Amino acid sequence: MTTESTAPVTDPTRVLVLNSGSSSVKYQLLDMRDGARLAVGLVERIGEETSRLVHTPLTDGGGEKRERTAPVADHAAALKAVAEELAADGLGLDSPELAAIGHRVVHGGLRFSAPTVIDDDVLAEVERLVPVAPLHNPANITGIRTARALRPDLPQVAVFDTAFHTTMPEYAARYAIDTETADAHRIRRYGFHGTSHAYVSRRVAGLLGKDPSEVNVIVLHLGNGASASAVAGGRCVDTSMGLTPLEGLVMGTRSGDVDPAVVFHLERVAGMSSDEIDVLLNKKSGLVGLCGDNDMREIRRRIDEGDERARLAFDIYIHRLKKYIGAYYAVLGRVDAVAFTAGVGENAAPVREAAVAGLEELGLAVDAGLNAVRSPEPRLISPGYARVAVAVVPTDEELEIAQQTYSLVTSPAH
Ligand code: ADP
Repeated sequence: MTTESTAPVTDPTRVLVLNSGSSSVKYQLLDMRDGARLAVGLVERIGEETSRLVHTPLTDGGGEKRERTAPVADHAAALKAVAEELAADGLGLDSPELAAIGHRVVHGGLRFSAPTVIDDDVLAEVERLVPVAPLHNPANITGIRTARALRPDLPQVAVFDTAFHTTMPEYAARYAIDTETADAHRIRRYGFHGTSHAYVSRRVAGLLGKDPSEVNVIVLHLGNGASASAVAGGRCVDTSMGLTPLEGLVMGTRSGDVDPAVVFHLERVAGMSSDEIDVLLNKKSGLVGLCGDNDMREIRRRIDEGDERARLAFDIYIHRLKKYIGAYYAVLGRVDAVAFTAGVGENAAPVREAAVAGLEELGLAVDAGLNAVRSPEPRLISPGYARVAVAVVPTDEELEIAQQTYSLVTSPAH
């Protein structure tokens, strides 16, 4: 005799977001009915003796954070460990409530302008982009392969850091170098942090009570990596990062814009190899190169103590930021809001104040009282009279990845 299952059939509503770096995996499990986090965690120092897993269940008001330090050989082992932690909370990867896994993928090149369900062909294209994203795409690929092996039947979606910037007009995306050489090597400005720029520009429109299509926004994503974007009516029209995340603003350890001749000069005069220059500009420059610290809190503390190097590093950082605000003001023509986000943008009131100081003629001002308020909520910090709203909008790349993933796998076309 056969018995029919009486279990209620419910649509899966959970999305696991995976952000696989070269030696780490960060993850969040979200319930897309309300965007609630069910668990968050990370595995770091993968491949070392001192690998560490930190897992925090957040169901039913939150549970105890669990930490373990034990060697995790590779990404496959890391994801297995994550799956075990989730299973211990009744949130395992085999749960019928899991709708999809959303992967952060740094470089999607020109082909991927939207989140994409991963198949062998998509994975092959992400691999073809490794030469333009050698630090990031290989780790993303490993994460995808491992997750597919664990749940081959589950939709897996790639959400690309570059996707939001594919709307840039050709005149903003192209470098003024020989076209054939540029095309042969896929050299152009791709931009990064796109998931954050998309999320923040949309949230800022909401803060103004408008539809994203109605507003022009300059988004300043200031974390350890930093980038600016000009967003017109919800579409990115320019961004400060280029072929790689090295171009643009002064960052924690990256130089941002330099005369490209600095590279030949270092090769010819200082006898440095291109690998050494790569390390110099990506890891030993920016704030750390200028003053030895890349944490804005430490830099502010040193400035308060009268440290001249820290002061100069801060001034260089702000000068560059201001130049991009001015440039994107000109690109957009009309600006409705300037939004600060990420670690520095959300927390460093002195950076926000200094970045817009003296720009009153452009309609930009910050209210000192509002700027000093600390809050996890999106908020306006400009005075009521200002023509341009200045906002602080905490970014949430994981929620954005989860939302994009979920809407793709639940869309009728899927
Ligand atoms: P990323 O994701 O690029 O690693 P984050 O967005 O987390 O970086 O930003 C990290 C940076 O934010 C730190 O290096 C530090 O400079 C800055 N930061 C974090 N908290 C504060 C704070 N309370 N005040 C000033 N700066 C802060």
